[in-house]
Amino acid sequence: MPIQISNDTLKEHLKKTFGFSQFRGEQEAIIQNTLQGNNSFVLMPTGAGKSLCYQLPAIVMPGTAIVISPLIALMKNQVDQMIAFGVNAQFLNSSLTRSEMNRVKNEVLSGDVKLLYIAPESLNKQENLNFLQQANISFVAIDEAHCISEWGHDFRPEYRKIRAIIESVDEKLPIIALTATATPKVQLDIQKTLNLEDAKVFKSSFNRKNLYYEIRSKKDIDKQLIRYIKSHSGKAGIIYCLSRKRVEEIADLLHVNGIKALPYHAGLDPAIRMANQESFLNEEVEVMVATIAFGMGIDKPDVRFVIHYDAPKSLEGYYQETGRAGRDSLDGTCILFYTYDDILKLDKFNKDKAVSEKENAKLLLAEMVYYANLGVCRRKQLLNYFGEYMAENCGFCDNCLHPTPTFKAEREVVLVLQAIQETEEKFDAEHIADVLEGKVNQYVQSYDHDKLPVFGAGKTVSWNTQAVDDDDDDDDNEDEDEDNPTPKKPKLKKKSQKDNHTEDEKSPWISFIKQITIHGYLVKDIENYGVLKLSEKGLNFIQDSYPVTFSRDHDYEKEAEPDENDEMNAGVGAKAYDDALFELLKNLRKKLAKEKNLPPYVIFQDPSLEEMATTYPSTQEEMAQINGVGMGKVIKFGKPFLDVINRYVDENEIETAREVVVKSTVNKSKIKIYIIQQVDRKIDLDDIAYQKELSMAELIEEIEAICYSGTKLNLDYYINQVIEPDKQEEIYDYFLSSDTDNITEALDNCNIDDVSEEELRLMRIKFLSELAN
Ligand SMILES: [Zn+2]
Repeated sequence: MPIQISNDTLKEHLKKTFGFSQFRGEQEAIIQNTLQGNNSFVLMPTGAGKSLCYQLPAIVMPGTAIVISPLIALMKNQVDQMIAFGVNAQFLNSSLTRSEMNRVKNEVLSGDVKLLYIAPESLNKQENLNFLQQANISFVAIDEAHCISEWGHDFRPEYRKIRAIIESVDEKLPIIALTATATPKVQLDIQKTLNLEDAKVFKSSFNRKNLYYEIRSKKDIDKQLIRYIKSHSGKAGIIYCLSRKRVEEIADLLHVNGIKALPYHAGLDPAIRMANQESFLNEEVEVMVATIAFGMGIDKPDVRFVIHYDAPKSLEGYYQETGRAGRDSLDGTCILFYTYDDILKLDKFNKDKAVSEKENAKLLLAEMVYYANLGVCRRKQLLNYFGEYMAENCGFCDNCLHPTPTFKAEREVVLVLQAIQETEEKFDAEHIADVLEGKVNQYVQSYDHDKLPVFGAGKTVSWNTQAVDDDDDDDDNEDEDEDNPTPKKPKLKKKSQKDNHTEDEKSPWISFIKQITIHGYLVKDIENYGVLKLSEKGLNFIQDSYPVTFSRDHDYEKEAEPDENDEMNAGVGAKAYDDALFELLKNLRKKLAKEKNLPPYVIFQDPSLEEMATTYPSTQEEMAQINGVGMGKVIKFGKPFLDVINRYVDENEIETAREVVVKSTVNKSKIKIYIIQQVDRKIDLDDIAYQKELSMAELIEEIEAICYSGTKLNLDYYINQVIEPDKQEEIYDYFLSSDTDNITEALDNCNIDDVSEEELRLMRIKFLSELAN
């Protein structure tokens, strides 16, 4: 039943309940459409205020609004939020006990509840249906509606029945379906599935102007990751990984590298998961390392970066996850680390799926591969995927700021357009590529396409013959509506695992055709997947072509090189340290060693000084991150070194865009912790070695590593058993007077009778533990 509520009254409610003075975008029009009893289909990106479009009418209309939501976690979150706003909201799903369900139902029947969230599965139950028929329902909202499309992520067959069930409750109930991710294909599918072709469609732009998109090669990712986070310290960020195991690993890695990070994935104990989420929301930790389970319905406005450690399964997923950055409309950075190997892995996961599902998953992956590889403005590509056309490049993505080389492409564009025209706009990119390349196959022959004028006309192409030039003029485009472009039958073969082509062994024409589509010369048929048609712009271009330049695809294998030179030098054995600073530090070490009557290496070893002369640590915490330096050592010796470094940095105006040294969380760390604990409990080294199935030499090696990383270990209880006091003293004195702690040299030069390598090593540990750490 239509309800008359003025816009002013709506605004009062908006202010009173939600605290906003103004509606955003089309919110008001959408709400009025529901109030008037009409069906709506709302496509709005994350963070644009989608939920308000059904929450507000639910409050102002008499009765209870039903919100069908496929995600139980999301329901709880939304109910909590509504209750916090002082609105009675409840949910009905399998997580409730029978008595809780009865309580909720009674509240609804008494008319107290404004919003009732319900899972599609619960909707299917007859008892719930009976209950809904008795209740006073105001309207039905279907949130995350892409889930009801088989092209969406979480499709479950029962979703197809939703419309029928709603009608059995009340035929006239207005329906509002909402989604934050929908390509034209999914949009059409949702409307068909819900029988919502009559709905008024409200489509907001999916352009998130404040987000910066970048794709990097996955080479040396841990260092890149740590460097990025450290240079944005104090900022909140999310790192998405594909597997729970990876989530744990990366959270550990960040932790040992001094970054406040916690893991989040569905396999964690719910209490821990909740606590970790809370810590992120309360800013106790800066970085959440998570599977895609994290983020749904979590409203943290000031997430400054979203990093994809692994490639996402689809561009929808990518868009959704990156969308969690910058909800406060301040800048957000979205970095995806890409390697084609990840795509192959993802493809492998799909192998057990049903055929149609597998095909769909492959198409989604192929889109991801295009997105990563094309040199075209990322935003243009993303929006094209969602059926939006952007004439100009955005100027705020990696491809805009660091364009790939370009090539002149006028002739090739004409060829593609002609080939599509001559084949009567009925074929996909692969077939067009075959025709252009003059491939004789059954398919081509059966349509007589080998007799067309364009057949074989694309054997030579400009991107092969033309010298690379850096003219990055983009062609300009007039407006053209674009459909979901997906190539037919993409093949993700394993043969060559290179990143430089969109798909292995695929014709470069296919990626070229993709660019033509993004630039608006072609449109894709939504009904017939992959079929290409000429747009008006394309038709005009055949008649009257003009010079255009296209971008070369990325070659992530090669692109990684220059960056690497900057970043690779920080590790042990680095060459590119700051010589002058290194000399200063060495002199300081010499002076201190003299004062303290210690060999210089006891204070800091050379590699540690080199690292300091590379990374310029300015605080105790930063210095403790240097390999071979623990906090104990920093406290003991660090101050004069920090003073020298800080003075040097000031005087030379060095920009401390610090190089990152990655402390790794190798599997050994568990063994090391075990050893430290056992030594603290004075367990004999023989027993520790036996327990861990190590030889004594291997155990001593582990202990040395512990010691060199700056941890103090007291082995006296053991050394006193195996080395006589006199001999201990002799070895100790040797190390004190030697200018190196090298064992081979010690064996040659120490002049101690019957001394073994093991004894020297043990005493060196004692010596370093006592004096250096
Ligand atoms: Zn751009």
